[in-house]
Amino acid sequence: MKIGILAVQGAFIEHKYALDSLGVESFEIRQKKDAEIDFDGLILPGGESTVMNKLLRELDIFETLKEKIHSGLPVFGTCAGVILLSKVIANDNFTCFANADIVVERNAYGRQLGSFLVEGKFANNVIEMSFIRAPKITKAGKGVEILGVVSGDIVAVKDKNQLLTTFHPELNTNIVHKYFIEMVVNRR
Ligand code: GLN
Repeated sequence: MKIGILAVQGAFIEHKYALDSLGVESFEIRQKKDAEIDFDGLILPGGESTVMNKLLRELDIFETLKEKIHSGLPVFGTCAGVILLSKVIANDNFTCFANADIVVERNAYGRQLGSFLVEGKFANNVIEMSFIRAPKITKAGKGVEILGVVSGDIVAVKDKNQLLTTFHPELNTNIVHKYFIEMVVNRR
């Protein structure tokens, strides 16, 4: 098994460490030829979604990854990664991969609450969740499975081949990565 981590911008290295801790091989996707090789799952990290969206297109990686995601490649998006996968961004005028049946609002916790750490439930586990200028998932389609809610806000979902967390699990735990790896194993 081999997991590709988008590494054009943002917090990608922590995802590698989380996968290392599970004994899962990963590699960085920095250019088109990296995106073209065969791999089993994809991680879209946190960072700045507008910048990643722009770089994906400038580096000519966008189409290759979009096709893989739309064909069912398991993909795990954290924070900005959620925005890149979302079909609708309520407070902005772009979309990127647009394959997750959710509506997100960028930077939805406001300036004062820019970053915070809470304990919350993900699937059947209580984990620490780091939110960093996080988006909110304000709507989820019928087929979307809700895996985590914190203070009334949806923070983790699964939609088909996609696992999405508005927080940064890679900073605190490998439990969410383990869940993702199970999705990858079940698909193979
Ligand atoms: N605020 C960022 C955005 O809108 C996301 C922040 C993050 O990934 N930590 O793209």
